[in-house]
Amino acid sequence: MIQTDIVIIGAGPCGLFCVFEAGLLKLKCHLVDYLPVPGGQLAEIYPKKPIYDIPGHPEILAKDLVDNLLKQIEPFKPDFTLGERVETLEILPNGYFQLSTDHGTCLQAPVIMIAAGLGCFEPRKPEISNLIQYEKHGVDYIIRDPEKFRNKEVVISGGGDSALDWCLYLSNICSRLTLVHRRKEFRAAPESVSKMHDLVAQGKLQLFLNSEVAELHGDHHLSSVSIQSDDRKFSIACDYFLPLYGLSPKLGPIADWGLGIDKSAIVVDTKDYSTNIPGIFAIGDINTYDGKLKLILCGFHEATLAVQSAFKIIHKGQKPSFKYTTVTGINSL
Ligand code: FAD
Repeated sequence: MIQTDIVIIGAGPCGLFCVFEAGLLKLKCHLVDYLPVPGGQLAEIYPKKPIYDIPGHPEILAKDLVDNLLKQIEPFKPDFTLGERVETLEILPNGYFQLSTDHGTCLQAPVIMIAAGLGCFEPRKPEISNLIQYEKHGVDYIIRDPEKFRNKEVVISGGGDSALDWCLYLSNICSRLTLVHRRKEFRAAPESVSKMHDLVAQGKLQLFLNSEVAELHGDHHLSSVSIQSDDRKFSIACDYFLPLYGLSPKLGPIADWGLGIDKSAIVVDTKDYSTNIPGIFAIGDINTYDGKLKLILCGFHEATLAVQSAFKIIHKGQKPSFKYTTVTGINSL
């Protein structure tokens, strides 16, 4: 059982910055995210894009902003549970909240900060009749530990950044790597496409264009896939099939917790971004109120105000004293 002051659901930029603001008030945070890495949309959708509206940064790459946020919160030693989705919420007799994840991790805290952005990123799945049967038995949509594929025969399908980035990474790990793409053109960054063609020329990657993985075979665990290529169909041995067509966000289980919801967003009071359940706050893209803008800097502001009220809940009505960081500096937890 994990116990902390604040459980933050979502390790996107707003969840990460919330750790900083909570840390200034000496509150300890535990972040949970469904993705295997922190950063939310910045890590998942646009890591290499420059952002121009972060105060004090005329231009900053999304990935660099995430790295800076992680560095900024280091003194407050947040704990992370990554690759797990928060599923259930229970209010305990002592008023604390208990959350549990799809992996069975249990967390308890007097305050919950929902920084879940657009929701959980769910994989886009190809239409293959027996695909679900092989989930956890040879079919993965998110790569959490590349070592799993060492010396294995792996087939990746997709033509975007995720598919190509993983081809480049896994080419030195797998015993045989195959990329199947239903078109001739790729949506991925031109530099990655060119590196991928180099791998093909070096014999490190087998490439099938205008092709689709049509069938999966194997007793219990995947052992081969059938590829439909123009009017030809053939099978190749395969330990793992990785359909990497990107992820799309879904609000998921949070929608069933009794929170006020308006158009897939959580209704909050702009005084402190509290929800209709005392002790639960919602910050960043997940919340809605009059005049809401889905911008990172708005989420930073929301986190700052929300932790002030969180402090009062955790310290039973006591008010946090307001001090500038230029006066106090950063005192690690
Ligand atoms: P997110 O970044 O969405 O993070 C939420 C996290 O919560 C995710 O990692 C998700 O996996 C996790 N999560 C959700 N539900 C659960 C659950 N049940 N259990 C566990 N984890 C869960 N904003 C700007 O200010 N400036 C820009 O220039 C800008 N450019 C953008 C460009 C693009 C292409 C896009 C898509 C967005 C852009 N944005 C920009 C918007 C900005 O990315 C969002 O406002 C910001 O990411 C919101 O941060 P967040 O922390 O609220 O949520």
